[in-house]
Formats: sequence, structure tokens, C-alpha cells
Amino acid sequence: MTDDTTGAPTTVAVLGTGIMGFAMARNLARADGFEVRAWNRTRAKAEPLAADGARVADTPAEAVEGADVVLTMLYDGPSVREAIGQAAGALREGAVWLQMSTVGADGVGPLARAAVQHGLLFVDAPVLGTKEPAEQGKLTVLAAGDPAARTSADRVFDAIGQRTVWLAGDAADGPASRLKLVVNSWVLALINATGESVALAQGLGVDPRYFLDAVAGGPLDAGYLRAKAETILAGDFPPSFAVSAARKDAGLIAAAAREAGVRVDLAEAAGERLRRAEEQGHGAEDASAAYFASFPDGAPPAAR
Ligand code: NAP
Repeated sequence: MTDDTTGAPTTVAVLGTGIMGFAMARNLARADGFEVRAWNRTRAKAEPLAADGARVADTPAEAVEGADVVLTMLYDGPSVREAIGQAAGALREGAVWLQMSTVGADGVGPLARAAVQHGLLFVDAPVLGTKEPAEQGKLTVLAAGDPAARTSADRVFDAIGQRTVWLAGDAADGPASRLKLVVNSWVLALINATGESVALAQGLGVDPRYFLDAVAGGPLDAGYLRAKAETILAGDFPPSFAVSAARKDAGLIAAAAREAGVRVDLAEAAGERLRRAEEQGHGAEDASAAYFASFPDGAPPAAR
């Protein structure tokens, strides 16, 4: 992507290069016409991006200095606020801010106000898809924001995603982040139902493979069931969507639902299972490790 008038590359500052931000920054660095600066609290995680031509910055301010676009992909609303606060002063008036972290319904308002304060064009743009789709540039972007930012935003989204859904309404009210919570309530239900069904099979002395065979190809089958069940059965939980991030999202869903007067028993239960898995030491593992919460001592039958 180049600036339409000068042909100069568009500078994108990526703040947060965890599982998702790293893959997004790499795809941007590899795409034509972008100049990427990357900042991460733990610098070592951003450093491999230098091999793709990105400049690794020591501070948010160094990353955003003169940048046309600022992309935040941090843990939650408070960490995004903190990073933008640290960048204040170096932010370019009129730059586009693509806020892509999952911050919940109430998390967006304070960020939209910070954008006004810093003279930024704000777009709230949480994503669907996990580590692998992020690496493949196949995320789905849910976007709501300043119409003046749309052309720049779409160019960035095209480099990191396969589809963008633009939502009507004021970004500060969080239409995109509200939709993200709805989708994640479904994701959390699937993750926890998978873990619980596999655990129940093991507890009842049923080979979980029979469970997967029984539902194969029918209306009860689901790609996500298969992916998460395979992770559990392999006994290896490299994080795609970490337990701690999933627990944070369960909390955001429960809080938004409470405010809306909706009971979300499954999201509450999902949050409790994820909290127990965290307590058992699985916080940095993939959310499918919530499976361990099914066992009072955290040990599946075979391991007892
Ligand atoms: P992650 O790997 O845990 O990365 C989290 C990032 O936030 C890291 O860069 C981390 O820095 C940073 N961070 C956390 N607290 C911070 C603080 N107080 N100050 C500064 N930086 C802080 O998580 P992720 O999976 O990439 O997720 C990033 C966001 O995308 C989250 O909002 C998540 O809910 C959302 N999301 C994730 C997925 C997924 O499947 N993984 C899918 C869609 C959306 P350090 O490296 O220093 O810890």
C-alpha cells in the first residue's frame, strides 16, 4: 500500500506482537507498500520481525512517530489505553488508529475518547480467527469507525484478512466489539463443550474416538470440535487462543450480558472452567486446556 498522492509506502505502527499481532505485523511487512514498525512490551517477541524488514521499536512512542496507521493488538482495553498513553505526543494528528484487540462492549468508549483527544481517526476492528488464520492472512475483520479512515483501513485489512464486515453505527458504542462478544460466546461454548465431552468419555471409560466417530459428518459434527478434540487427545497445548485470553473474554461477555439483562449461564461456566485451568497452571496454553478443569485434581484418568 502506498500513499495515493506521493507513492510513498504507508507506515504502520503495530503495538503488540503476541500470537496475533506478530502474524499480522509479519503479513503487513511482507505485503507491498507498507513500512512496519513493531513494538512489544517483551521486545524479544517482536525481534524476529526485523528479518521481514520491520523496524523494532523500544517504546510505543518510537513506533508511532510519524506513522500513518497505528494498529493495536494487545491483551485488553486497559493495556491498549496504556500503550496509546505512552505513545501520546509522538502520534501524528489525523493518523488512523485500528484498534483490533478484544476489549469488550464497555472497553471501546474510553479508547474512542482517547482517539479524539489525540486527534486520531478511530476504527474499532476486532477479528475472528486464531493463530493459523492470522499467519495465513485469513482473518475476518469486524469493523466500525470513522468513514474518513475507511480507505486506509481496508488496505491494511486486505493484507491481514480475507474478509471485512463493516458495521453501521458509532464506533464508540462498540457495534463491532459487541458482535465479537457474540461470536466468542459461541467459540467458548464449543471449546468447553468439547473439553467436557472428551473428559466425560474418558471418565466413563469410553474411547473419545468413538464419540468423534459417532458424530462424524452429521449435524452434530463441527470443525472446531475436531480441532480442539485433536489438541486434547494429542496432549500438547501450544497456544492458538490462550486460556488466559479466553478467560478474559468470558468475563467481558458476562459483564456485557449483565448490563443488557441477559443471563449467560454457559459463558459464566466457561469462565469458571478457564479460571480453574489457569489455577492448575494452564494459563499460557491453548484454551482447549480448559479440559483439565473437568478433573478435581487436574489429572485426566489415564494420568492418575
Ligand atoms: P497474546 O499472545 O497473549 O498477546 C498479548 C499481547 O498483549 C502481548 O503483546 C503482550 O505483551 C501484550 N500485553 C499484555 N498486557 C500488557 C500490558 N499491560 N502492557 C503492554 N502490553 C501488554 O494474545 P493474542 O492471542 O495475540 O491476543 C491479542 C488480542 O487479540 C487479545 O485481545 C485477544 O483476545 C484477541 N484475539 C485473540 C485471538 C486468538 O485466537 N489468539 C483471536 C481473536 C482475537 P507481552 O508479550 O510483553 O506479554
